[in-house]
Amino acid sequence: MKYDVIIVGAGPAGIFTAMELVKNNSTKNILLVEKGKAIEDRSCPKSKTKKCVSCNPCNITTGFSGAGAFSDGKLSLSYEVGGDFPMLVGADFAQELIHYTDKIYLEFGADTHIEGVSEPAKVREIRKRAIHAGLKLVDCPIRHLGTEKAQHIYGAIEKYLVDKGVEMLFGYLRDMYGEKEEHPFTFRFEPGYICGELDLLKSVLLNLADNACKASEPGKPIEVFGENRPEGYYFTVKDYGVGISPEDCRRITEAFYMVDKSRSRSHNGAGLGLALCAEILKLHGSRLEIRSTLGKGSTFAFVIPYPAEADGGAAESHVRQTEDIR
Ligand SMILES: Cc1cc2nc3c(=O)[nH]c(=O)nc-3n(C[C@H](O)[C@H](O)[C@H](O)COP(=O)(O)OP(=O)(O)OC[C@H]3O[C@@H](n4cnc5c(N)ncnc54)[C@H](O)[C@@H]3O)c2cc1C
Repeated sequence: MKYDVIIVGAGPAGIFTAMELVKNNSTKNILLVEKGKAIEDRSCPKSKTKKCVSCNPCNITTGFSGAGAFSDGKLSLSYEVGGDFPMLVGADFAQELIHYTDKIYLEFGADTHIEGVSEPAKVREIRKRAIHAGLKLVDCPIRHLGTEKAQHIYGAIEKYLVDKGVEMLFGYLRDMYGEKEEHPFTFRFEPGYICGELDLLKSVLLNLADNACKASEPGKPIEVFGENRPEGYYFTVKDYGVGISPEDCRRITEAFYMVDKSRSRSHNGAGLGLALCAEILKLHGSRLEIRSTLGKGSTFAFVIPYPAEADGGAAESHVRQTEDIR
């Protein structure tokens, strides 16, 4: 399926973006991509292990509903609390948005109780002490959305979005950081220079290496090479895995195209990796070369052209020694 909108991150910003689209009866196909887990799967092993076991990504800060879902979770119902937003959009509009958001949380099951309004005598006392200390007390009613309520509220929101047709893709980066030791890697780079965006090129190589792992049985080697050629610096990522048919080779860089759907799903792939690699390489005046034989393996290669002489100093800031890319 093709998507009209892809939202990266299912924190409050991503969730409310999806919700606004859906509420306005948008007919767009929406994909919400989140590197963490669905709300119903979010939990911290620390509750059992009693100490942090360094989950990657962290279950507390990532997943549907984002960071803070496992916190004290206060929705401050005053524009005077929480950053520069009122300065950007004006106090009235900021307050309007807070009420709008609060209404949505209530619709999805937030507790109607507002902290800070039922004890005026206590508030007066605190205000007096604040004035004595030279501080200003902001009257800020608070709706509690914290840990014990978040699962319920965000669970209802997640269900609403799914029922409205929003697709969710969770944990897609997990494999990228998973155990790679099951494949012996060989890296061999000739010294040389490239002209490009280091982080983007690294992500291309990471994607190709990741795909090579997915296509290979445990124990099969993967080789990543870099060499100087007349036309530029040449990278190859070679595996000895399942290989790709000629038809698939032709289509494999299309967005959302998956060669082997069952295999890709089991690795939580969206079929976006190679399409993005192709775009990144296009920005570098390059393209993916794919050579593959079914049952024998595949080689993905690309060349990063040397900086043109005419580019002179402008290209210099992007020229990196290949040592940097390892
Ligand atoms: C411990 C703690 C307590 C807090 N308490 C409060 C509070 O009481 N009241 C309050 O109003 N605010 C609180 N906050 C702040 C509040 O959580 C944030 O303001 C809010 O979560 C920001 O929402 P967001 O959607 O912009 O980002 P986030 O909530 O950070 O959500 C971003 C999401 O994107 C995902 N993501 C990131 N990169 C990628 C990627 N490349 N691909 C896919 N997914 C990705 C992350 O996993 C995450 O789920 C707290 C924050 C923390 C950490």
